[in-house]
Amino acid sequence: MEILIVEDEIKIANTLKKSLIKEGHFPTIAINAEVALELINEAQFDIILLDWRLPKLSGMEFCKQLRRNGNKTPIILLTALTDVSNKIEALEAGADDYITKPFSFEEVKARINAVLRRYRANQNAIQIGDMIINLVDRTVESEKDIIKLSDREFELLKYFLYNKGSIINKEKICKDVWGIEFNPFTNVIEVTIKNLRKKLEQNSKHIFIKTIYGEGYLFIAE
Ligand code: CA
Repeated sequence: MEILIVEDEIKIANTLKKSLIKEGHFPTIAINAEVALELINEAQFDIILLDWRLPKLSGMEFCKQLRRNGNKTPIILLTALTDVSNKIEALEAGADDYITKPFSFEEVKARINAVLRRYRANQNAIQIGDMIINLVDRTVESEKDIIKLSDREFELLKYFLYNKGSIINKEKICKDVWGIEFNPFTNVIEVTIKNLRKKLEQNSKHIFIKTIYGEGYLFIAE
């Protein structure tokens, strides 16, 4: 990922840069907000790590300015201030999260992942319960894992999502998802549903697919 570090404390900036490179990222350092604005005009960044206290234009002012210009790049503010009202101010200015200094790189990594997860969820994915369904990659993602769905599982999941809240029987699922008449001598539908259920529920606190005995399946998406 392309990561912009806006930080006037060179030591902190360099330490962050080194750790991010080790993780396979491409970090760029801007020593103040003015330089950062110039860089943003020239290149696209995946995420911005932004120091709060910068000379001249503050991190927060920078943040507000970016959002005013319609820039939606995820921003994590780095702040030495622990005051609660300041944290609220940071989020209101358009930052996606904040980290209080001094911080460990493990924390930075976790915050970056969490912010990007939320960002991607808004982009080309939908969130159901604690899972994110990525419609482009055809994956289900939990905090612990990303699991790829087969084509049929993905079609079935889309179908369940369209029909969430209603009980659908096997005959109808077979006709609508497989495009064939239901054959009672095969268990392909049960197997596909079982696999999809496992992928959705093994890393989740939620139950998404409920079997209603004698009637069919109920998809719960909340
Ligand atoms: Ca600073």
